[in-house]
Amino acid sequence: MSISRREFNRNITRLGALGLAAELLPSLTSPLLAQPSSRKIGYAVIGLGRIADLHMQGIHLSPNAKITALVSGHRDKAEKYAAQYGVPTSSIYSYENMDALRNNPAVDAVYICLPNSMHAEYTIRAAKLGKHVFCEKPMATTVADAQAMIDACKAANVKLMIGYRCHYESTNLAAIKLIREGAIGQIQSIQSAFGFSCGADEWRLTKALGGHGPLFDVGIYCLNATRYLTGEEPASFSAYAYSNPNDPRFRDVEENLVWITKFPSGVVASCSTSYGSNMDGYYRVYGSKGWLQVDTAFSYEGLSLKAFYNRDGVTESERTVVLNQPNTEKIPQQFVNEANHFTQCILENKTPTAPGEEGLKDMTYMREIYRSAGITMA
Ligand code: NDP
Repeated sequence: MSISRREFNRNITRLGALGLAAELLPSLTSPLLAQPSSRKIGYAVIGLGRIADLHMQGIHLSPNAKITALVSGHRDKAEKYAAQYGVPTSSIYSYENMDALRNNPAVDAVYICLPNSMHAEYTIRAAKLGKHVFCEKPMATTVADAQAMIDACKAANVKLMIGYRCHYESTNLAAIKLIREGAIGQIQSIQSAFGFSCGADEWRLTKALGGHGPLFDVGIYCLNATRYLTGEEPASFSAYAYSNPNDPRFRDVEENLVWITKFPSGVVASCSTSYGSNMDGYYRVYGSKGWLQVDTAFSYEGLSLKAFYNRDGVTESERTVVLNQPNTEKIPQQFVNEANHFTQCILENKTPTAPGEEGLKDMTYMREIYRSAGITMA
């Protein structure tokens, strides 16, 4: 029986309208839907930059979560957000006095939205205060730091979740579902890229704060996607890096990195990342019965899925569907889903779908990729 175009579109539209996929991939995503709770989890957001702004909107819209404290080096900015989200000014902290969070019972957990090299220090600090930790990707800048973060959270008996927001994004989940259902047959190969031209004044270009270059920042999306699309762990890597020697932006970190991942089944993924050119994040997955492609696959919204495959002997025509429309609040739904998930894990004492161990895996794989490209990563 072949799936009709109308049925396909109806299913896909349903996914997009719900903005969730717990019903589709319970092992990967449950629970994205917030269960009603009499208690709200209170979050301290640490480092009030670009991603923190989106996370605060996500927490604010998550029914069982609220922002209860802010940690910032800029008091004026923190006061503005405090007024917006109803945080008492007595719950604004600096990096220096952040340890006073220990005595703030309104704070159950922290969201760490700092530059990469600060993730380990602040995760370990927060764990020692007895607070659960959500930490942005990349988890850390060294494999040893990532392991120390896991150890600190285990020792303090607090949860650690890494910010892999695509795990809660409906278009990516629809792509995984099609693959798992066998729509495109056995995966043969994957192509993926994600990059942008990085501004010269960005902390991302410094080893001290960024750690490494675009692989840490955006290439990690391609790496993680090839793992969730195949459901396999990489067997080996081969990689090449190139930086324009005349571009002063790339004195510290690499500009371009291209790598091939070989998976145990034989699937080969070729990926590119860059701080020198704009690459709309995408992936194309070739299978024995067809292919699928997600464009702007790692964006906050406006993602699209296109698939061409042969189901039950009938060739399905090509379709393009845009799944991840902004919700009525005009906030990318994936941030709300992500906040829902972490909040439910705390409320129900469950392990997040992307715990510290998931971040550690990518750290270890990135070290292998860098090693193959002749770049030393600790
Ligand atoms: P920003 O530069 O926009 O914000 C970082 C914030 O960290 C600053 O606003 C500042 O907050 C604080 N900070 C403390 N010390 C420093 C310092 N020495 N230099 C710069 N900032 C400092 O960064 P992003 O929000 O883009 O990135 C933060 C983290 O989030 C990174 O790890 C990045 O990889 C990740 N990220 C994740 C994304 C996702 O989609 N999941 C997207 C973008 C980033 P304050 O002024 O309050 O002290």
